[in-house]
Amino acid sequence: MEKVGIIRCQQTEDICPGTTDFKVAARGKLAFEETGPVEVVGFVSCGGCPGKRAISRANILVERGATVIVFASCVSRGNPIGYPCPHYANMREAVAKAIGSNARIIEYTH
Ligand code: SF4
Repeated sequence: MEKVGIIRCQQTEDICPGTTDFKVAARGKLAFEETGPVEVVGFVSCGGCPGKRAISRANILVERGATVIVFASCVSRGNPIGYPCPHYANMREAVAKAIGSNARIIEYTH
């Protein structure tokens, strides 16, 4: 079973505990159809705007065994308030550079 670390938007923590993220990860649905059911080794926020803390947090998730870093849909799609992260492109690029070939990225959860 593949191990993933999920990074979510800190701005939406108050209105979403990530329930659907955990469901689709456990069941291998939607974004996880390519991996099948996964083990979530960590579920962290980006650390707040502009998302710079996501870099160190992604590194920790990889250290804890994640071979996939997943940006939750609150980041990339703006769920559930219809407001995608304005810093997503930069954050994703910086995380990709930091984790290198140690892990790959999935850009949404559901
Ligand atoms: S940087 Fe993006 S993902 Fe992080 S809190 Fe701000 S809007 Fe949310």
